[in-house]
Amino acid sequence: MSGIYDTIVVGAGIEGSSTAYYLAKQGQKTLLLEQFPLPHSRGSSHGQSRITRKAYGPKEHYAVMMHEAFHLWEQLERESKTEIFINTGMLSVGEPGNDFIDGTIKAMRKHNIPMDVFGSDEAKMKYPMISYPTDFTYVLDHSGGILRADKALKAFQDQFQKFGGDLHDGEAMVKIIPGKVITVNTSKSTYKCNNLVLTVGPWAKTILPSLGVHIPLRPLRITVCYWKEKIPGQYAANRFPVFVQHPAVDNFGVYGLPSEEYPGHVKICLHFGPDIDPDNRDTVDDKWVMDKLKSYVSKHFPNLVPEPSILETCIYSWLPDEEFVLDKHPAWKNMIIGAGFSGHGFKLSPVVGKVLGEMAMGKEPSYNLSPCRIDRFFSRSKI
Ligand SMILES: Cc1cc2nc3c(=O)[nH]c(=O)nc-3n(C[C@H](O)[C@H](O)[C@H](O)COP(=O)(O)OP(=O)(O)OC[C@H]3O[C@@H](n4cnc5c(N)ncnc54)[C@H](O)[C@@H]3O)c2cc1C
Repeated sequence: MSGIYDTIVVGAGIEGSSTAYYLAKQGQKTLLLEQFPLPHSRGSSHGQSRITRKAYGPKEHYAVMMHEAFHLWEQLERESKTEIFINTGMLSVGEPGNDFIDGTIKAMRKHNIPMDVFGSDEAKMKYPMISYPTDFTYVLDHSGGILRADKALKAFQDQFQKFGGDLHDGEAMVKIIPGKVITVNTSKSTYKCNNLVLTVGPWAKTILPSLGVHIPLRPLRITVCYWKEKIPGQYAANRFPVFVQHPAVDNFGVYGLPSEEYPGHVKICLHFGPDIDPDNRDTVDDKWVMDKLKSYVSKHFPNLVPEPSILETCIYSWLPDEEFVLDKHPAWKNMIIGAGFSGHGFKLSPVVGKVLGEMAMGKEPSYNLSPCRIDRFFSRSKI
């Protein structure tokens, strides 16, 4: 394309793809740049499944956004004629006084989200395939379930192109020259745009400092483990929901999904992992993660083989408060940053795309984004 783009979005993970989709749908001339040939499995958005839920622990601002996220996922399913969501319900488990459980119950009551709260007697009847201490509380969020991640990502990218967007994969952004009109040099060409959205996932760790923005973002390697059922079908999606325990092991959460994507295998992961360089992802030792998970599975999932059968790898962009960054660059207001999705950004991506798109179009974002402001890290910023 010749001329100036309204917006260039750098990074075609789920957040950049949803932003580009939103912008193209609004009639904006948009270019979506991705450094790797698509599809790829080197960032944070690949794989077949992610958890979605309305229950959001004490972080009520995300529970508010989830309401619209569910509608936007349905809209994407209709437009793309793709099944993205599987409703299994989501079970939160925790000991008495657990913040995640208490915050979830409070927020769900406040927003009239259907749920069941029960104790261990009922849990034993409903879910005999799990085992937790008798004083634990269980919250079943009926709205929760699985998002088919790969299909969702492709649906956003396909719809973006149907709405007239340009998608260039295998083309890395190598330099940004800020200004009223921004120049973007890539590995193949040079483009100009009025607005730039940076959704570069774990690569934000190096790209943001090169633009004068210093946030304490840590790319973490997450080992995705699939555990084989001893009795086939016992943890199938029609009998067992997605689940979260936070914290579960030391201070870390554990979450899981029923056997669905790989029949006979339940996905259970630790919500943390070792620090990595995203370009050198597989060189770290994560034995401590595997040891914690094996012991968790053998204790609480007695009907799974306590040794994972399948391992995959993915990356979190972790911020210490686990809040996203959804904001303008502190100095260049036509540069928008979406970063630090801290292992929970997939389900919210349709809303993230909408608010980043609104900012790129010079509109007020539809939500109060104060928890996601970049200046909460300003004491560490060199701006
Ligand atoms: C194992 C795992 C389980 C998860 N489970 C859940 C869950 O159950 N529910 C949930 O809501 N969330 C979950 N998440 C989190 C969610 O997947 C992420 O928050 C989300 O995928 C982040 O997407 P992103 O677009 O920010 O990053 P990415 O997917 O990493 O996308 C960034 C893209 O930018 C590209 N890029 C970087 N630099 C450049 C450049 N210079 N030029 C061009 N392109 C560039 C990269 O190649 C990459 O494709 C999970 C994450 C992992 C890893």
